[in-house]
Amino acid sequence: MRVTVIGAGYVGLVTAACFAEVGNTVTCVERDAGRLQALDKAQVPFYEPGLSDLVARNIEVGRMHFVPSIAQGLGTAQVCFIAVGTPPLPSGQADMSQVRGAAAEIGQHVSGPLVVVQKSTAPVGTVEMVQGIIDAEMARRGVQHWVSVVSNPEFLKEGSAIEDFTRGDRIVLGSNDDKAIAVMRELYRPFNRNHEKIMVMKPASSELTKYAANTMLATRISFMNELARLAEAVGADIEQVRLGMGEDHRIGSHFLYAGAGYGGSCFPKDVKALAFMAREAGMHAELAEAVDAVNQRQKQRLFEKIAAHFAAGDLKDRTFAVWGLAFKPNTDDMRDAPSIDLIEALLGAGARVQAFDPVAMDSARKLWGERPGLTLCKDAASALQGADALAVVTEWHTFRSPDFDQLAAQLKAKAVFDGRNLWDPQAVRSAGLAYYGIGRG
Ligand code: NAD
Repeated sequence: MRVTVIGAGYVGLVTAACFAEVGNTVTCVERDAGRLQALDKAQVPFYEPGLSDLVARNIEVGRMHFVPSIAQGLGTAQVCFIAVGTPPLPSGQADMSQVRGAAAEIGQHVSGPLVVVQKSTAPVGTVEMVQGIIDAEMARRGVQHWVSVVSNPEFLKEGSAIEDFTRGDRIVLGSNDDKAIAVMRELYRPFNRNHEKIMVMKPASSELTKYAANTMLATRISFMNELARLAEAVGADIEQVRLGMGEDHRIGSHFLYAGAGYGGSCFPKDVKALAFMAREAGMHAELAEAVDAVNQRQKQRLFEKIAAHFAAGDLKDRTFAVWGLAFKPNTDDMRDAPSIDLIEALLGAGARVQAFDPVAMDSARKLWGERPGLTLCKDAASALQGADALAVVTEWHTFRSPDFDQLAAQLKAKAVFDGRNLWDPQAVRSAGLAYYGIGRG
């Protein structure tokens, strides 16, 4: 098929590359000149395991190419994905301006029958809105084509995006139009071979499913973070509690990790957007709002522990090594990462920070530039040089088994703050270090 994908971010580029890989001809539209320039040279402008090879391979065989505008990218496409950003507005509402802009341009340039796939995470009513914008633009031009908008939320996770896209648990399609669904079934056929994964529902259900899934996962994390505080208060270890809970097959073991709070471009914004959607519908999503509030507080937790250890006011002129900047391992994405809250709090208290992440250093440089008090280090060892204490914020594999004796020899104040419960407190303490985890009373 001939496919156009609008937006070459994490979702758009993975979608484009995976559909190209199975034989479709895919045009990616990206309006960011920097991203486009990199992609033209087959360079993926962010870190996602396996994606560079996939993109390079498909460019080489001519199944994937990049253009700067929808006017140039729509051509004779049969399917056009909208995979643009929907960042949060201060109210929590999803900012729909990129989706609206893309819809208007599709309406201005569509020249034949087309299925428009709304893949961006967007509130209930977006399919209808996009359809309305496209129909209005076609009417203005005095043209008439069969254009049908389908909701198809994306459930991939950064860090395992290709695997999730090609072998995901389900493919949700929201549409009342059988003809459009038939086109989508054909397009997804290579990823739907072994057992039926396609679930067709009405657009509103499909749109809500995405927010419901992310809010559920975020709820589990905030629940465990709240429980971690209780564990500290009553002298339990949340890691033991987690294992005890996870063995119950009704609960399961996924997303039960207490830590420094959830981040990334999805959970924080999607929980807020669900709460906003509820307010718009005249109700109060008490649980979703609590999930968000618990998380905001949790992101301060490591700093509180550090401040408590060093006695108030004594952070000035101390130096902290921070390992891990990305919001989770295997990505360079720092959007809403808990590391930002910790580092800002430390700098705000007059401390110096020496930070390292295996792949997010460019993201950190873009975020902070030259920031007084903050040194972005070339490796984990340099971050430790002259440091009083170490905080780990992202559970990269490479941080899982450090030499604690060496850490004890290097850290002046002999203290570690384990924001992901990576280490065995006993092993750390026997090396002569003070250990602080999350919920390990
Ligand atoms: P992103 O911000 O990384 O990428 C969006 C891209 O779209 C940007 O490069 C931007 O320049 C481009 N763009 C915007 N308007 C355009 C236009 N008119 N023409 C051409 N390009 C345009 O976003 P993302 O992380 O890929 O997320 C996209 C959507 O998918 C969001 O709604 C997000 O919530 C959702 N989502 C993201 C993930 C994830 O893990 N990142 C997972 C599932 C769903």
